[in-house]
Amino acid sequence: MQEARDNTSELKEEILRLQQQAQPLEPQAEERTNLWQATQEYAAAFLEVLPGRKAFEAEDVTGRLLQHQLPGEEGKDILDILALLGEAVDTPGLNPASGGHLGYIPGGGIYTSALGDYLAAVTNRYAGVFYASPGAVRIENLLIRWMAGLAGFPATAGGTLTSGGSVANLTAIVTARDAKQVRSGDVPRSVIYLTSQAHHSIEKAIRIAGLSESVVREIPVDDGFRMRADLLLEAVRRDTREGLKPFLVIATMGTTDTGAIDPLDEIAGITTQYSLWLHVDAAYGGFFLLCDGIRRRFGSLGLADSIVMDPHKGLFVPYGLGALLVRDVAHLAASQHYSANYMQDTHAANEELSPAELSPELSRHFRGLRLWLPLQLHGIAPFRAALTEKLYLAQYAYEELRKMENMEVFNKPELTVVAFRYVPPAGDADRFNRELILRIQQDGRVFLSSTLVDGKFALRIAVLSFRSHLETVDLALQIIQEKVLGLQNAE
Ligand SMILES: *Cc1c(COP(=O)(O)O)cnc(C)c1O
Repeated sequence: MQEARDNTSELKEEILRLQQQAQPLEPQAEERTNLWQATQEYAAAFLEVLPGRKAFEAEDVTGRLLQHQLPGEEGKDILDILALLGEAVDTPGLNPASGGHLGYIPGGGIYTSALGDYLAAVTNRYAGVFYASPGAVRIENLLIRWMAGLAGFPATAGGTLTSGGSVANLTAIVTARDAKQVRSGDVPRSVIYLTSQAHHSIEKAIRIAGLSESVVREIPVDDGFRMRADLLLEAVRRDTREGLKPFLVIATMGTTDTGAIDPLDEIAGITTQYSLWLHVDAAYGGFFLLCDGIRRRFGSLGLADSIVMDPHKGLFVPYGLGALLVRDVAHLAASQHYSANYMQDTHAANEELSPAELSPELSRHFRGLRLWLPLQLHGIAPFRAALTEKLYLAQYAYEELRKMENMEVFNKPELTVVAFRYVPPAGDADRFNRELILRIQQDGRVFLSSTLVDGKFALRIAVLSFRSHLETVDLALQIIQEKVLGLQNAE
């Protein structure tokens, strides 16, 4: 007895000592203020100098400092840590916060979204299950319903907020596979239709979903890089006749290379007739639905079975927010449902479906807050204005590029991407443009990326950052001319 009591008191002493040692994990009011102030000042200084900063910093002088920063037993001072962050992380490479980011599909980073992230992290509401946080789940489902409404989906629709478009595409393709009952034995006879312009996350998703041995048909595109619906119909008919099992058509609303929009009306006609799942990858283009002028061009989007949209592209929130919408949410739930003994409390009658029942994720960031807060604060109007501004900026870039001598412009922008190349009077065009993009990237005041269009090396201007404005596009055009001239003189 005596011995047990001694043990317990020693144990208690040790517990209290450890509690004391772990104390820094719960900074007190004054310490919190200091930390917040230092962090806030860092963010303010970042935004202050941002307009003068490069969109791309090719030199990685300081980045290696990080490699010596393995976590040690003792903590460090916040100011030293922030100084390291500034040098080694927030300097080298691409600066996606810059309006000069005109490469790939630019991201955003609106400030008010960061505040939503901050609050979601401090309160750490559990957004996976309705029972645990009805409020957080209501917010996420409300955002999904809002997007489903934009797409023209009926009330049966539902979906899930994801980390981005890739995971949303993967979840969509898995859902299509299950809804169309493609079992492993069926895979070699099952047919998926897409075009050469589909995003590479689709190809990746097909593989991860266990469908890489299915028949994947690349339907040719028209001169605007849109799927040829007539050739889709031909292919589906032929495959059906030959005893294959067509089940999935993947259309894109806003391709990465040129921002092309596949003809959804005609495609939906075919998928309806042949009972195929129609997935629309609108990761880039989806939120242009907010712009009245081009809504009509999206046609029968509401006839799709699933749609992916990326708020971290078209709604300018920081990286980490995609969305999957499914016209009949029951298909998504059937594909993603689960049960486990330790989850038995959570399955009580719920007024809302829970994100954990509609996605591969269980514990997750309350990511809805980073979109809900900005939408509540600003309303929709500024988002619509910014998106419409981008449409006009791309049109402007297109007109100006066409005025330049020997400039070949590959597409009249349907959305906000223009692909082009300089065709030198003599010499190899691919080699010239490869050198041209290098020089533009080395310069770094704006960042453009390149691709292949019809097998030709092409440069792209992609306008989607909320910080890209008329002066940004003018600067890009000026830099292009400057570098072309420099290269010609060097030849
Ligand atoms: C960006 C993009 C994706 C991938 O989305 P992430 O958010 O980068 O994972 C997929 N499809 C299209 C058309 C895209 O533009």
